[in-house]
Amino acid sequence: MGGGPAGLRAAEIAAAGGAQVTLYDAKRSVGRKLLVAGKSGLNLTNDEAFEPFVARYQGPELRRDLLRSILHGCDNMALRTWASGLGIETKAASSGKVFPTSMKAAPLLRAWIRRHRELGVTSEVNHELLGLQPGKPHRLLFCTPGKEVVVQADAVILALGGGSWPSTGSTGHWVSILRELGIEVASLEPANCGWELDWPAELLQGVEGHPLKNIALAFGGVSRHGELMITRYGLEGGPLYHLGPILRTRENPAVTVTLDLKPSFGLEEVKKKLGGVSSNYVREARRRLNLDPAATAMLRHLPHLGPWNSPEILATTIKSCPLKLLRPRPLAEAISSAGGVRWSELSDGLMINQLPGVFVAGEMIDWEAPTGGYLIQGCFATGSHAAHSAMRWLESNAKP
Ligand SMILES: Cc1cc2nc3c(=O)[nH]c(=O)nc-3n(C[C@H](O)[C@H](O)[C@H](O)COP(=O)(O)OP(=O)(O)OC[C@H]3O[C@@H](n4cnc5c(N)ncnc54)[C@H](O)[C@@H]3O)c2cc1C
Repeated sequence: MGGGPAGLRAAEIAAAGGAQVTLYDAKRSVGRKLLVAGKSGLNLTNDEAFEPFVARYQGPELRRDLLRSILHGCDNMALRTWASGLGIETKAASSGKVFPTSMKAAPLLRAWIRRHRELGVTSEVNHELLGLQPGKPHRLLFCTPGKEVVVQADAVILALGGGSWPSTGSTGHWVSILRELGIEVASLEPANCGWELDWPAELLQGVEGHPLKNIALAFGGVSRHGELMITRYGLEGGPLYHLGPILRTRENPAVTVTLDLKPSFGLEEVKKKLGGVSSNYVREARRRLNLDPAATAMLRHLPHLGPWNSPEILATTIKSCPLKLLRPRPLAEAISSAGGVRWSELSDGLMINQLPGVFVAGEMIDWEAPTGGYLIQGCFATGSHAAHSAMRWLESNAKP
């Protein structure tokens, strides 16, 4: 159930294995978040080697060995081979990110739906799951236009996504359905999201929408190199997304991070470059260190920095500029969610222990990963795994 990458994959595997599959989705069509993801180039997976790839996945109670074996069973090459089988060739960028050569999601989604038809998957859209009554068979209550319907199923795979971009159908309403059944679900939280901070008006006037290129962001002993974007509300970008799991503290969302505005130079080198400066400090720093306009505006306008009266202090700040992040942006705007069904509730086959015959896949499980193709890969692999497990479960629990 759920027509995102996890549910689409699970339906495909189960149907290919001979099950009679119906794919239900709350929206009028499936794959809406996949289409949104494709707007800026669909990053399907990443070309990274297996162990560092697995290390990208995080979560407070992540069962890393289980996830490793799930990803091992369906890794980045398997995903690329599968896409190629649908007629979608892929290419890896120098960053390791893997895209369809067309960069688009729509041709892949169309081919995937065609594959479903060939395999005999029935698609029931406009079916929002309202409740689940476990049993033999399970009874599923759906809201459809104008009426509620009850459907019976021997096995159920839930792949209802997280809680970001609810307009795509991923509303997270399933959290209360599972909690009512006594299943522990970690609250959905924004992951891969921007953070808010108080920019002075003068800074925004000059550099809103400008990148902070080639910086390093550090917190808690971890540093990430990359690019950030100055936005009206704060900052967006890869280094923040990567540090997200350690930046999110449950009680107090505000955290102070440090920004290295010139990571390619050591502190002594920066001091040397600024040697002899005795006036126009920021202008000289910009010229001598080739700082971009956004970095320059920060040194000029952030009230907690300066006044500049020594090249040493300026150099130290350029290498370690403190920034107070107030809070993450709301879940609805995030690229993905952290939280979800706790791993302790799941068998090795991703079946909910308390609900035999009910499996989960995709973003609704309590794992998170940075952008770079790891999200779709995680959903695809868990969708495959849940479907294979469901098939085995059906076989050993078949009616006499
Ligand atoms: C802007 C943006 C860009 C992204 N870009 C990338 C990228 O390039 N690469 C990458 O790896 N990841 C990317 N992602 C993340 C990726 O799209 C998601 O991680 C992935 O789609 C999650 O897959 P899923 O199958 O778990 O759930 P979803 O894709 O969220 O699908 C869940 C489905 O379940 C349905 N559903 C939910 N509740 C119910 C219910 N109660 N009853 C019936 N149906 C229900 C929904 O309608 C939806 O179709 C991006 C996300 C966003 C928002």
